Amino acid sequence: MSAAPKPASWELVGAPAEGLPTSLVGSCARVGHDLLHDPTVHARLPELRWWAGREAGAPAGYVVVGLRTPQMTLFGSGVNTELAEAELAARIAEITQDDLIGYEALPWPACPGHNHPMEPCAVDEEAWWCCPASHHPLSVIGQLG
Ligand SMILES: [Zn+2]
Repeated sequence: MSAAPKPASWELVGAPAEGLPTSLVGSCARVGHDLLHDPTVHARLPELRWWAGREAGAPAGYVVVGLRTPQMTLFGSGVNTELAEAELAARIAEITQDDLIGYEALPWPACPGHNHPMEPCAVDEEAWWCCPASHHPLSVIGQLG
């Protein structure tokens, strides 16, 4: 059995040098765009990058993906990259906001006019940020701004 390859690391809206599924890279770029759009997140965590790696023995298609800074790894969670890209984007959005809200006290992304963050939801096979109170889709994930 060979050792797991070294994790890849890349910019929030970018592409890793090493081969990762395009659905994963595209989903990360969408969530990365929305992270970069938030001045509070950017001020607190100015050098966020994605990282991803495969764990030895994980099922085919499973990749551990997360965010890191030059100093530390914020988190990494296993995702199924064989999901449709909208579902995968919603999953990446979910694990990202779980970390930012739970560990960084950043209620990202702010719901316009409300004192709570939006939550990922799927509408018409597209991944959206929705208001958790009204359940209205407000912005396609990757198009905040
Ligand atoms: Zn709301």
